[in-house]
Amino acid sequence: MKKIIALLLALTLLFASACGSGTQGGQTPSDPPAGQEPDASPVDQDAPPEPEPEPEAEPEPEPVVLEAYSIYDPTVMPEGGERDGVKYEAYDGIVEHLFFHPIIAYPELAFDGDAQEKGLDDYMVTVDEFNKILQSVYDHGYVLVDITNVWSEITGDDGQPKMVRNTLYLPEGKKPVIFSYDDTNYYPYMLENGFTYKLIIGDDGKITSWGLDPQGNEVISRDLDAIPALDKFVEEHPDFSPFGAKASLSLTGYCGILGYRTQTEKEDQSPEHEANRQAEREAVKPIIAELKRTGWTFGSHTWGHVNLAKKSLDVIKEDTVKWLDEVGSLVGETPILYYPHGARPDGGDWKQTGPIFQYLQSQGFRVFCSVGIESFSFIKKDICAVICDRLHPDGTTLRKSRKRYLQFYDAKDIMDPVRPDYGVDWD
Ligand SMILES: [Zn+2]
Repeated sequence: MKKIIALLLALTLLFASACGSGTQGGQTPSDPPAGQEPDASPVDQDAPPEPEPEPEAEPEPEPVVLEAYSIYDPTVMPEGGERDGVKYEAYDGIVEHLFFHPIIAYPELAFDGDAQEKGLDDYMVTVDEFNKILQSVYDHGYVLVDITNVWSEITGDDGQPKMVRNTLYLPEGKKPVIFSYDDTNYYPYMLENGFTYKLIIGDDGKITSWGLDPQGNEVISRDLDAIPALDKFVEEHPDFSPFGAKASLSLTGYCGILGYRTQTEKEDQSPEHEANRQAEREAVKPIIAELKRTGWTFGSHTWGHVNLAKKSLDVIKEDTVKWLDEVGSLVGETPILYYPHGARPDGGDWKQTGPIFQYLQSQGFRVFCSVGIESFSFIKKDICAVICDRLHPDGTTLRKSRKRYLQFYDAKDIMDPVRPDYGVDWD
């Protein structure tokens, strides 16, 4: 219990601060320059005009042809029990669930001894660790499934809606794992601490990250961010995602989403802010569309990273309306809610169903995810909902929970030597 409280406290420290313009003490990222900069060379007004160069036929820009991407329903047995020469079989066992925060692209900025260092060490993994974890999870026989495919809502014999666990049809011998990524919002504090700044569409039409390296150079890459990194891994290992699933992105709204500042601000209700906000909403739409096309789904992490164990129902209602208005309107309806800080509402959701849980369920949420020591899940009997816990590959578990994660990877093989020396407890 002590451990859980410590975890919650630290998460509070990490994520509780408001986004507000400038309140983080850091710069909000300026937009990346859009590919072609206009030629800015000064024109000498007195010089005779240069003869017009022969206009070269501008080559038509090659239209980017996106590769087809197939998404299959894991609750349906492929015809003849086979797809692409692979045999499928029914699976009703545990669906494991691993969740990550954004990953550290530049450890020298994350682990620089500042006030954020400990929190980043506790709750994040580095790019190298992430890649090793992916490889090991894959090597251990897991395949990705999307969280929205694991349970369904049906009408029970009593005429009431209820959730049921679906039978999954998996490639023979494989085990299912859900991935979720929390706080994929690109908060200002992260930008200063070694993370990428936003997602963009690369020249090849693929989701790519944009950011600045420690020297301030612009970097467009698919290797520094857990979203394109997973895309790439699945391209190289298509059998890791037989249904095309990637991860579920757990989004707050108070700093916008995916690196785009789509949020309203209490302190700034100027027409300029609103115009910028609308432009950011337009800019993020193609990113969302491409993510959805390639197997990513979305869940709510509340608008304000609200601690559901501590806030009043009224505050939570206001927050939920804002999430649906500012985030749900972009990513679409979702049945998934990820508790900020892992904090359960109403003093617990396992033995009781309190007013906050009931309200959130009434807003369309059906799967309520916390954080725990195993991939626990429970279909509630008194309301149409599922509660579940997720495991958390990060510094705390790499250092202290090696055994619990051996079914996925061995922390000894994963832990990045660039981490600060906070010690390990490996037995
Ligand atoms: Zn969070």
